[in-house]
Amino acid sequence: GKGTTQAGHTQKSKSTNANIQRALKKTAQELEELRKNLPIWSKKADIRWALRNNDVLLLNGETGSGKSTQTPQFLYNEPWCKKQTVKITNEEGREEDVSVGGMIAITEPRRVAAITLARRVAMEMGSYLGKEKTPGSVGYSVRFDSVTPLGMKIKFVTEGMLLQEMLRDPHLRQYSAVIVDEIHERSVDVDLIAGFLRQLVHGSKKGRGGIPLKVVIMSATMDLGGLETFFAKPGFHFKYKPGKNHGQDLFGVLDHLKSKNAQGDSGSGSSPSSSPGSGSTEAYSSWEGISSSDESDSKDKEKTPITNGSRVKDITGDSPSMEDIKESRIGLFDGDVAESGVAVEYVEGRQHDVKVWYETKPSADYLHNVLQTILRLHISEPLPGDILAFLTGQEEIETLQAQLEQYASQLTKAVPRMKIMPLYGSLSAQAQQEVFEKVKETRTRKVVLATNIAETSVTVSGVRFVIDCGKSKVKQYRPRLGMESLLAKPISKTSAIQRAGRAGREAPGKCYRIYTPEDFARLEADQLPEILRSDVVEAVLKMKARGVDDVLSFPLMDSPDVVAMEKALVQLHSMGAIDDHGTLTETGKNISAFPLPAAFGRVLVAAAESDCVLEAIDVISCLTTDSEIFIQAKSEADQESIEEHRKDLQHRQGDILTYLNTMQRYAAENSNRNDWCKKRLVSVRAMKMALAIRKQLRQICHKQKLLAEMPPQDPQPVDPISEERAEVVIKSFLKAFAIKTAVLGPDGAYYTSVGRNIIAIHPSSVMFGKKVEAIMFLDHVFTAKSYAKKVSFIQANWIVGALGI
Ligand code: ADP
Repeated sequence: GKGTTQAGHTQKSKSTNANIQRALKKTAQELEELRKNLPIWSKKADIRWALRNNDVLLLNGETGSGKSTQTPQFLYNEPWCKKQTVKITNEEGREEDVSVGGMIAITEPRRVAAITLARRVAMEMGSYLGKEKTPGSVGYSVRFDSVTPLGMKIKFVTEGMLLQEMLRDPHLRQYSAVIVDEIHERSVDVDLIAGFLRQLVHGSKKGRGGIPLKVVIMSATMDLGGLETFFAKPGFHFKYKPGKNHGQDLFGVLDHLKSKNAQGDSGSGSSPSSSPGSGSTEAYSSWEGISSSDESDSKDKEKTPITNGSRVKDITGDSPSMEDIKESRIGLFDGDVAESGVAVEYVEGRQHDVKVWYETKPSADYLHNVLQTILRLHISEPLPGDILAFLTGQEEIETLQAQLEQYASQLTKAVPRMKIMPLYGSLSAQAQQEVFEKVKETRTRKVVLATNIAETSVTVSGVRFVIDCGKSKVKQYRPRLGMESLLAKPISKTSAIQRAGRAGREAPGKCYRIYTPEDFARLEADQLPEILRSDVVEAVLKMKARGVDDVLSFPLMDSPDVVAMEKALVQLHSMGAIDDHGTLTETGKNISAFPLPAAFGRVLVAAAESDCVLEAIDVISCLTTDSEIFIQAKSEADQESIEEHRKDLQHRQGDILTYLNTMQRYAAENSNRNDWCKKRLVSVRAMKMALAIRKQLRQICHKQKLLAEMPPQDPQPVDPISEERAEVVIKSFLKAFAIKTAVLGPDGAYYTSVGRNIIAIHPSSVMFGKKVEAIMFLDHVFTAKSYAKKVSFIQANWIVGALGI
């Protein structure tokens, strides 16, 4: 009867469960062998001891040494990492019981890193990353996606998500510790996090019932001197010179090299701030005759072997070896209580020799040179030895991938096969996972084409050859235009050194810099932190929303100048986010409730006022996915066929309404959504993500009372949007994007409303080639000229009102 079937069923699922448990345990045991071999493993006791005695630990170690995966596991069983119930006095002055601690948060600059690391650590701990609310020790929380199992101890979060959590829980009561990973990337968010953590460590602990929060700051490249000063107890005086100069003091090695080799001082010496990295050209020439000359024959004739090549040890002549640093630190912190309140630990990486080669003359087309170098290496170098090439962005990577694949298909049997793998931030976690692993196929060479995420944040196994194009895309604020844009810029010396280092993780390697030694000498020592390069409106709003009244005196590692901060306050005021006293308004609160750029939050608030929130959400969901939802055409013929395919989506008034059409039709589709996407050359993955974003934005809008009731479940049939409604939607966007508008001039060119600069419509827009009286654009790029992207038609007289003039 019924009873027996059920019992049988339960029994069966019990045994499946037991099998799964056994398999998980076995995997964890196998992984433990690998973990024990990681360089950080030998520091386990030191790390624990340091945090038992201090609240702050700075941890420096090479990429791949095990910081991200092991540190949280070393700590979650520590005596201070327990959930406790404490009495605190609440706002009304009454005592109440709250629980504090028990979890460790670890921040990552990128969502994919947070997810892959969570999976990896779960596996190492013999649990698995299940669904929401099933038991498990590891979870993650990234924008629009989270897995937070019951009994979670370790939670990987993006920097933005930790800031978002601080809105609800300013004292971070859930956590016993926060680990900040990859602080060297110095995003605006990580700088804000550092400021807030410093306040939590040194401020009143009343909000946590007196229980301290432990903070671990991890870096692969940064000079920790500055961080040590930043986190030191207030009023503590260093006996040595801390900060940036402190770093320099440590680098006696470098000074030594410099003085030994004054004649090599070609250009780089002119840089006044000779922090680590600036002395490296000298360093090269001072290590003569170390390497053999065998590589400098035949194939490398066209390159300049730098004094017969040099070793990474030389490269790190500009950043000192761990030994040098440690020696200079003896007595400052010996593993017990640090006088400054800040403990410091260094993990020694494994680094083999890397020879560096340069171009003899500047190249007009570096992509071509990268291609040539890859092919030459592939044909001439024996296996094993994978190739890692650093490029600037997805487009470039895809172009090169296509070219390489063509060559690869023509290779003769005598040459090994080539497996070409792209690697950039918006790639799926699964695709990124592949680069961790050794190639499974025999006689095959892995060729990884990566952005700067492979510099420090992703470990690519098997690499012996690095090709460095010398550039990366960075966000740059253009005050003249009042906007930010992504530009391909020369990298810093620190980055160049870091890139070269990737070749020597497992064996001696080679690095080919697709630029000249003179170019190298001209590189800045370090990249400016993002907060000094970007529009600080977002940062100021984030501070305000988290209760910082006086943003000008908020502790930041590098403060933007006062003028920029004040300008940001003015802008927030004109947005209606703060009032005349600088206090956050309802609008400001609403804007900061969204895990979105402030401008999109502003759009949603405006949309609520004119009752088109659902439409605005549909558009914004499509705009905030990791990668573009519209797959780009590779050729003109492609473009024509795309237009044919997307006819039913494209709106003649521009991209905003095209996105709206796309989301509405996609959500209304009730047969096969994947086919629907493929037919229209729309990215399946991006659309899935957009749909998840849409769901969350609807929930947040509902919670914030911007949306009276939740709409019915999909699929719902839709009607094409009416003229009047289309206008309302566009005007909601204009509330936030008024400064990104341009008017058609008598000469047929578009002139920006702010600054009167010429801007052209990008070919990716449905408005490409059209002349209308005025346009609004949500995005723009600067290549050979200035391009507007995500363009919509507007009426010129709307701009005046929206700009508030
Ligand atoms: P770090 O933070 O110091 O860069 P990690 O803790 O991220 O180091 O990684 C340590 C080692 O674990 C790496 O060398 C890498 O090979 C391995 N590893 C990390 N994540 C994964 C993963 N998702 N899959 C396979 N190996 C991984």
